[in-house]
Amino acid sequence: MLRGVPVVPGVQYAPVVRPGRLPVVEDTAAEIADADRPAEAARFSAAATAVATRLRDRAAHSTGAASEVLAATATLAQDRAWLGAAEKRIAGGTPAVRAVREAVAQFVDLFTKMGGLMAERVTDLQDIRDRVLAELSGLPEPGVPLPMVPSVLCAEDLAPADTAGLDPTLIVALATTLGGPTSHTAIIARQLGIPCVVAVDGLDAVPAGAFVLVDGTAGTVTVGPDEVAAAEAVAAARHEAERAAHWAGPGATADGHAVAILANVQDGAAARAARETPAEGVGLFRTELCFLNRDTEPTVDEQAEIYGEVLDAFAGHKVVVRTLDAGSDKPLKFAGHRDEANPALGVRGIRIAHGNPGILERQLAGIAAAAARTGTRPWVMAPMIATAGEAKDFAAAARRHGLTPGVMIEVPAAALLADRILEHVDFLSIGTNDLAQYTMAADRMSADLALLTDPWQPAVLALVAMTVRAGAAAGKPVGVCGEAAADPTLACVLAGLGVTSLSAASAAVPGVGARLAQVTLQQCRDAAEAVLATATAAEARAAALAALG
Ligand code: PEP
Ligand code: MG
Repeated sequence: MLRGVPVVPGVQYAPVVRPGRLPVVEDTAAEIADADRPAEAARFSAAATAVATRLRDRAAHSTGAASEVLAATATLAQDRAWLGAAEKRIAGGTPAVRAVREAVAQFVDLFTKMGGLMAERVTDLQDIRDRVLAELSGLPEPGVPLPMVPSVLCAEDLAPADTAGLDPTLIVALATTLGGPTSHTAIIARQLGIPCVVAVDGLDAVPAGAFVLVDGTAGTVTVGPDEVAAAEAVAAARHEAERAAHWAGPGATADGHAVAILANVQDGAAARAARETPAEGVGLFRTELCFLNRDTEPTVDEQAEIYGEVLDAFAGHKVVVRTLDAGSDKPLKFAGHRDEANPALGVRGIRIAHGNPGILERQLAGIAAAAARTGTRPWVMAPMIATAGEAKDFAAAARRHGLTPGVMIEVPAAALLADRILEHVDFLSIGTNDLAQYTMAADRMSADLALLTDPWQPAVLALVAMTVRAGAAAGKPVGVCGEAAADPTLACVLAGLGVTSLSAASAAVPGVGARLAQVTLQQCRDAAEAVLATATAAEARAAALAALG
């Protein structure tokens, strides 16, 4: 089972197809003679125009996001910046094929350094390059094959022009090795309504023709699963999807017990996408993901701008901004990480601020500035809190900036002393991904240990229960923002334990809300009680399913 980032929910089982690659186009090593340069420039210009025209034609024959994506790619194909860079090289004697490669490489480098949305446009530019190279070389345009049977399209990343023309009856799911939730692959998959998982580790090794089960809610691709079980999973998901599509929020059990259903986001674009779901707010804004490509710390103003986008998207609603969770699997270049033997147990999350208090201060200033500009009152929380002292210091710093402080419960020590932590902060949010990792002493990145890091582990749920009890005693909200909240059945158990909000990837929001709406609070409580009496994750799941019906 390969893991990635879930983008569009749904489950499909079908054979893999892969897009055709551009055959290697040889560089003509020789310099172009002076006299031949105008002709070479004209050949290049004609090729670029032909590619742009074809993209525009396809835009005209498409609708909605597909049309917009194709039109945007056509515009990029005619962008003076990269065309000029290629023309300059041709004027200096570089053959058109090499000039195109070099000019595109120059802009790919620039976009990658800029990070964020610009970096996600790299695939678009490379797609244009391949089309222009094919045109220059008299080769057919590269792209997606038309399969004979419904298939799962797997690729390193998909170019917009490929995905925009897809027929959802033939391409029933998408999975890519690269890409983010705002990549064009994701945008088009959402429009087509086909399950999609991006950033799938190990997908490159899955050959065309292999049967895979793509789960766009869980973010997994299972290679060669049991055929009968796969068919059942597809049927069950279709049934759930029909129900989820009709769920409009707000989050509540069938008998009206409210549990806010919130979204996890990592930037403005993701927040705007989340706004299209019935999510009632943002329960986790992972700010560190905005800066993974940055060499230097963003200024307070830059941070305010970026955070403001998320606050704007959910103006008038709850937004919980998490301060930088740098370190371990998410190192930030500007956080000054040292080499550590065990980075998951090292200087990550709030611990960064111990040696570098300015980084937290400037982030809180950025969040406060974004709040002032947008007229919103975001909550802020610190990751990786282990002691009440850390919670106290963080709360004081946040309050100095006029922000409402809370902390994440991700370390067993924090769950065990949640009552003492709650003396300092206004809310808790349980990160079940790390709580499972640290409770079970099992690396969350290790596929071999996935059974141990399963959030259904009763030991993990016992710590969740303890944390929630402390919150109830203090009269303060306790949410869950780890992946546990994205599992509709487990979400009901969490509601039964008493959590006040559930925050999950946007794609999971309708499924969680719809499932909760089918069960009563008593059923959730029975499920929670049953789960806490089990000894294994499998028993816990079975006990919950039995109690929830
Ligand atoms: C978690 O640990 O559950 C969590 C939500 O934080 P992250 O996944 O970003 O570490
Ligand atoms: Mg975490």
